[in-house]
Parts: sequence; C-alpha cells; structure tokens
Amino acid sequence: MANIRFERPCSVCGVVKSLADFPRNRSRVDGHAADCKDCSARRLREYRATPRGQVATRESRRRSAERAAQAYDEAVAKLSPAEQEALGWTGPRYAAPTP
Ligand SMILES: [Zn+2]
Repeated sequence: MANIRFERPCSVCGVVKSLADFPRNRSRVDGHAADCKDCSARRLREYRATPRGQVATRESRRRSAERAAQAYDEAVAKLSPAEQEALGWTGPRYAAPTP
C-alpha cells in the first residue's frame, strides 16, 4: 500500500504520534482511531462520569459477568456429575439471557 505513514497528528490534541499510540480501529483506512490513546482514554473517562455513561458502564459490566457465568456453566455442564459436585456446581445460574 502506498502512503503508509507511521506517525500522524491526533485529531483531538494535535500532537504528532506514532501509530502505536492510537487505538486499533478496523473501520478506518490505516486501522487506527483518529484520536490518540491518551485522548480516547480521557474521552471514555469523561463519558463514564456522565449519567448516561454510568448506565452504559453498569450494563456492559453486567453483560460481561453474565457471559462469563454462561461460559463457566457450559464448561462445567460437560463434566461428570462427580466433577461437578467437586466444584460445588449446583446447575446453571442463568437459564436464558434476558435482553
Ligand atoms: Zn490526542
């Protein structure tokens, strides 16, 4: 590919940085986000401080915990009853995902 640049300015702070200092973003032409890691981290922190961001963060954590519990249940369900008992498993904690 022509015109590959390994450094470019951040669209927010304007500081010229290496591509490694930009988060990955496949939808962009060079595969990296427009704003640098520092700026996107600050933006995320500020968003999480807003009421809407707090709800979104809480929901995201809940979904993540649910996925982890489901993966655990699926893995333990494949074990023998003796192994399940040894782990103290009493059955799936999440019957069906609730949207
Ligand atoms: Zn920046």
